[in-house]
Amino acid sequence: MKEVYLDYSATTPVKKEVAEEMSQYILGHYGNPSSLYKIGSASKEAVDIARAKVAKLINAAPEEIYFTSCGTEADNWAFFGVADAKRKKGNHIITSNIEHHAIIHTGNYMSKRGYDITYVEPDKEGRISPESVEKAITDKTVLISIMMVNNEIGTIEPIKEIAKIAKEHGITSHTDAVQALGNVPIDVKDLGVDLMSLSAHKIYGPKGVGALYIKKGTLISNYMHGGGQEKKKRAGTENLAGIVGFGKAAEIAYDNLEDHIKKVSGLRDYFLKRVTEEIPDVQVNGSMEYRHPGNASVTFKYIEGEAILLLLNEKNIYVSTGSACSSASLVPSHVLMAIGVPAELIHGTIRFTVGDFTTKEDIDYTVDCLKEVVAKLRNISSVDGKKGW
Ligand SMILES: *Cc1c(COP(=O)(O)O)cnc(C)c1O
Repeated sequence: MKEVYLDYSATTPVKKEVAEEMSQYILGHYGNPSSLYKIGSASKEAVDIARAKVAKLINAAPEEIYFTSCGTEADNWAFFGVADAKRKKGNHIITSNIEHHAIIHTGNYMSKRGYDITYVEPDKEGRISPESVEKAITDKTVLISIMMVNNEIGTIEPIKEIAKIAKEHGITSHTDAVQALGNVPIDVKDLGVDLMSLSAHKIYGPKGVGALYIKKGTLISNYMHGGGQEKKKRAGTENLAGIVGFGKAAEIAYDNLEDHIKKVSGLRDYFLKRVTEEIPDVQVNGSMEYRHPGNASVTFKYIEGEAILLLLNEKNIYVSTGSACSSASLVPSHVLMAIGVPAELIHGTIRFTVGDFTTKEDIDYTVDCLKEVVAKLRNISSVDGKKGW
């Protein structure tokens, strides 16, 4: 049976060219990049080439890219590292209540340990207004961290305006750009942010490697302590093959950014057009103007998203309810709650995310199956007395 993967925001398949380049650093080159002999220098060189490729994708200088084990580590580093480096100035951090759990749960942890965290609320489309961020600033604020693109509803945030406000107040700015990377143009110089989190496995690279962009001169303490890797800022022997893969994925993303956005958004728009025209009682969440090119967050009224997911799974179609991290639980999505979607509609919401390997046939097959699945579930739910709806 056909397989359709529509969960590119959870992770992406590794591109063949990426895997091929990585394999040379798994089966071949094995020298430790810190070793001084030839095979060590060859590995170091490979890491630096990858660093330059990741830097180019966000218009940073190569020496501003610090490799980490994942996007989550980069987020944690930004929070703990800035809080520690600026502890004499204050203990207040501003973020939002629609961030990825890598930020929200880090904030919650820190708030139990003496930090004061403000979670700014978005509007109905998931946009964080720069004014609401500015209003939350106190003389103790050390960090402002707002994500660049939301992972559930795809909303793109006004990072440039927010970074400008941070700068005017002498506050460090961070953005979690894991969903933005390779999906929207990113220019750190134009955005003016001090810190940016990245991850390889959302851009057709391997899992288990990420990076923190640290603008030259930004005050931040180390998070991982040990050896002198990454200019003594992030200890631990480099994930050589992973870093090489991240570099290759970044290079491909840079070379194809425009085509990727055009292709993916075209398929997403076609999907949304068919779904909204052919299935009654649906609602699209988030902003259509400021949106991740591949994201379609759709609420199917009167039925459970979990049931839709499972029936689609039987047809080898892979989608997600909310974010992958919360999909294992029945706790309603904090993002959909934050934009004011009523609880009963949150439970009927599915996130479809389109990517580079998606075809028009995949979309047609998915919509055809969806029509059948939704009709079937609504039929059961109406027999059920609409379960109170
Ligand atoms: C996936 C994701 C992360 C976590 O990145 P990992 O590399 O999986 O740790 C953080 N933030 C956002 C917005 C994400 O989508």
